Amino acid sequence: MKFHVLTLFPEMIERGLMSGIIGRAAENKIISLDTVNIRDYTLEKHGKVDDYPYGGGAGMLLQAQPVYDACRAVSGDRKVRTVYVTPQGRPFDQRLARELAGEEELILLCGHYEGIDERVLEEVVTDYVSIGDYILTGGELAAMVIIDAVARLIPGVLGNGSSAQEESFHNDLLEYPQYTRPRVWRDKTVPSVLLTGNHAEVTRWRLERSVERTMCARPDLYEKYSQKQCLIRRLSRDKRNNIHLMESLSAGSGEILYASGEDAAVCDRDHGVCMVKASSPEAGLRLLEECPKDARWYFVSRDLAERSLREKGFAAICECSQFLYTRREPLPVRHKDIRRLGPENLEYICSRYPSISPAYGKDRLLAGALYGAFAEQQLVGFAGVHSVGSVGMLYVEEAYRGRGLAASLEAYCIDRVLESGRVPYVHVPESDPAAAHIQEKLGLYRAGDRFCWMERQSETS
Ligand code: SAM
Repeated sequence: MKFHVLTLFPEMIERGLMSGIIGRAAENKIISLDTVNIRDYTLEKHGKVDDYPYGGGAGMLLQAQPVYDACRAVSGDRKVRTVYVTPQGRPFDQRLARELAGEEELILLCGHYEGIDERVLEEVVTDYVSIGDYILTGGELAAMVIIDAVARLIPGVLGNGSSAQEESFHNDLLEYPQYTRPRVWRDKTVPSVLLTGNHAEVTRWRLERSVERTMCARPDLYEKYSQKQCLIRRLSRDKRNNIHLMESLSAGSGEILYASGEDAAVCDRDHGVCMVKASSPEAGLRLLEECPKDARWYFVSRDLAERSLREKGFAAICECSQFLYTRREPLPVRHKDIRRLGPENLEYICSRYPSISPAYGKDRLLAGALYGAFAEQQLVGFAGVHSVGSVGMLYVEEAYRGRGLAASLEAYCIDRVLESGRVPYVHVPESDPAAAHIQEKLGLYRAGDRFCWMERQSETS
């Protein structure tokens, strides 16, 4: 991801961010950080960039011309998301950080003095973002806060793919208390459960502490958390059909749009997916109306899809069955040479599996979520875990088919999902009965309903 910061104090950004984790990510070219001095673009011969506000009032304002030219020097004719950091903006939070982390490129515009001439803001800014209800002297600290929070969500920046997943605000909970050596410090001992080595007990204890802390410190978050838990419990009565919604809610990316009785609509803004579960196609059509119009995909039951395609201008991408692995023990993996793939495998993956775009393939590789099967030192197949949580992206070279490699790759992925504490499930296209057969052989259960991934047809198509 590329960050461009438009500022009067580039050295402040460089000094602030070029050390530590973010600096290392820039050195390793996982992100790039470029600062642009707005003053370099002024046409005023003494380098002046500010002037008095019309109508009077205290302080000076940054003028439109240098800001506009600095911005155009970065974006040219491209449409780049441009954030003006301002106390008047949308409050910055973890959700917005995740949303911005999905961009390939981001411009951050730092104000100074009393702010910036409104006319240039109207021309170039796409988002107004505040880091809190207080006034800073300039936008540099705000831009640094945003870059730090966004960059650490980019796969590969933290090194350990899971560390950004278990922190405060993930799943609407604050993090549990943590302890390190020594075991006893000023007569205070580490809670004994953390010394037992019993992972299930430790996980339970941590969740309880997280819930307690959130209840006390952030009742607003706790309210959201308990609403989700309530819906997950309700959906779990028909787990095979509802696993996709349940996993999206428990992973923290799904937000409830609507939940009442048998009807629910969940939106996963991070991945641009809306999921609808309805007691009847009529109820489903009403729920689809509630979903954001700009979601990339809509996941619905097939009967609702049929009505939506006919009446509401959706297009079907893929009809599929949902398979669920309900046991807790890992599956045996027959093929022994399966390894995690890296960015060097991107070209191979995209050439063999065209519906994986280079951006998505890179995201999955950097997240460590694609695994390759090797034979005679050659990469001969792969499978992985989608960003929404399902196992998929299965491919085996023709010459190696019929040798159980596909089943080994699937089993390997299912074991990785189990390790992460989630429930493994797979969406198998109706057009691929061989893949359905593999799931059944591995012991996954097929859901009774059939499902459909849809997209909204554009006005012109
Ligand atoms: N006169 C402006 C107002 O009342 O909204 C405040 C200007 S402030 C002194 C100067 C610059 O600091 C702003 O243009 C903005 O870029 C940045 N800034 C100040 N507080 C901020 C905050 N809470 N979040 C984001 N940026 C902030």
